[in-house]
Amino acid sequence: MNKTNDFIKVSPAAIHYLSLSSNGDISGITSLAGKSPAPASAPLYHPYRDLIGDEAQRWLAQESIPVSRLALARQVHGATVRRVSRAGIYPATDGFFTDLPQLSLTIRTADCAAVLVSFPQVPAIGIAHAGWRGARENIVGRLLEEMFAHWPVDPASVRTALSPHIKACCYRVGAEFSSFFPPEVLHRRGQARYFDLEKTLLNQLAQQQIPAENIAVAPFCTVCAPIPLYSYRRDKTAQRLFNLITIEKAHGA
Ligand SMILES: [Zn+2]
Repeated sequence: MNKTNDFIKVSPAAIHYLSLSSNGDISGITSLAGKSPAPASAPLYHPYRDLIGDEAQRWLAQESIPVSRLALARQVHGATVRRVSRAGIYPATDGFFTDLPQLSLTIRTADCAAVLVSFPQVPAIGIAHAGWRGARENIVGRLLEEMFAHWPVDPASVRTALSPHIKACCYRVGAEFSSFFPPEVLHRRGQARYFDLEKTLLNQLAQQQIPAENIAVAPFCTVCAPIPLYSYRRDKTAQRLFNLITIEKAHGA
């Protein structure tokens, strides 16, 4: 693996968030684009085809992640988060949380951020889909408030990671954004405005008392990073990065 920082490592096929637990009990991972091997002859899972395309299915197989353990969201850029206890497809959902081991919570992204949340002391996990609409609805705050209601841990023990997302270098937006977000997350360059999604999400995590040193931010803009990532804005692609968080084993298991 290439070392990116102490919290994030990049393998040939994925980004790994090492900071989500100190002992490996909780894993977080984001796929890279187009890195899975050539198609096998195995039949594809028809019920999942619109959520897991062929390339994503090959990537999951390569990473030894069974589709049968995935919680999948039909994402709508909303702020609905669900506590889940089984795999399957959840309608109109943009966030999940659970304390069940071996259930992988997934969010698919191509410019939006996935925010991965770990309560290592429980252990419990969550994930949220945060583009500008989710950020405007504060889905990160809603996910954390729901998790704190179930497991009232010290916020200083919570660890989080932001997946690769479109950064302020490339996220040009219209004038209407100044009615959605405060000036400190809108950067002017000439006549153009650029939205700082990352700073918005970091502010929302800070509002939940998550210490900055417990937040790992993938240092990759989906539009301009030199590693293969999917960007809807750049390519109008239907492909998505897969972001997963999983409790690999419970304490004492
Ligand atoms: Zn960029």
